[in-house]
Amino acid sequence: IWITLEGGDGAGKTTQAALLEEWLREQGRAVVRTREPGGTEVGTLVRDIVLHHRGDIAPRAEALLYAADRAHHVATHVRPALERGDVVIQDRYLDSSVAYQGAGRVLDGAEIRALSLWATEGALPDVTVLLDLAPDLARGRLDADDKPFDRLEAEKSAFHERVRASFLGLAAAEPGRFLVVDASRPVEEIAAAIRERVGVALSP
Ligand code: C5P
Ligand code: MG
Repeated sequence: IWITLEGGDGAGKTTQAALLEEWLREQGRAVVRTREPGGTEVGTLVRDIVLHHRGDIAPRAEALLYAADRAHHVATHVRPALERGDVVIQDRYLDSSVAYQGAGRVLDGAEIRALSLWATEGALPDVTVLLDLAPDLARGRLDADDKPFDRLEAEKSAFHERVRASFLGLAAAEPGRFLVVDASRPVEEIAAAIRERVGVALSP
């Protein structure tokens, strides 16, 4: 099965992905943990472009770069893992593009989604965990962590509000795929909620 984690910067996706991986491995599952952008060697190059030129790439060019990264990642890494029967845990996927390149950069969300589905031949995860957090709380966390480059400051707070609202709208539209978790809760409680949902998806 394929699990993606979504949410704004500083919501705890990477932490939860690691905890979920650990739990699945304890049960003897083969797990592939990956991320976007940058889940492959080619993707790492795309990640450098989109992150280091953020703000000076034309929005449609940015959307295409994310879609290109995703096409390559799904074709060469994710799909083969799923075909082997591995569990794939992925930090960000197409919902991030609808939220950031769509709502954030003010492009049409339906077009961004269609672009991504074209890029991946329609690949959609079994479970998507949305870690929902107010941008000002996320900002406080990233500051406390002393992240190497200031991710949230790169965009205005209205941008992050649009991103958050977009994620929530996506989750409301597909309640079967999404689990929405309040990311201000303690890490272990969030992990337990995710394990419960993933456990259901894994049971035959
Ligand atoms: O921590 P993470 O790897 O998710 O950071 C990637 C950065 O790229 C984040 O700051 C996020 O806002 C941005 N991003 C984006 N559009 C995407 C995915 C990530 O703007 N589709
Ligand atoms: Mg992260």
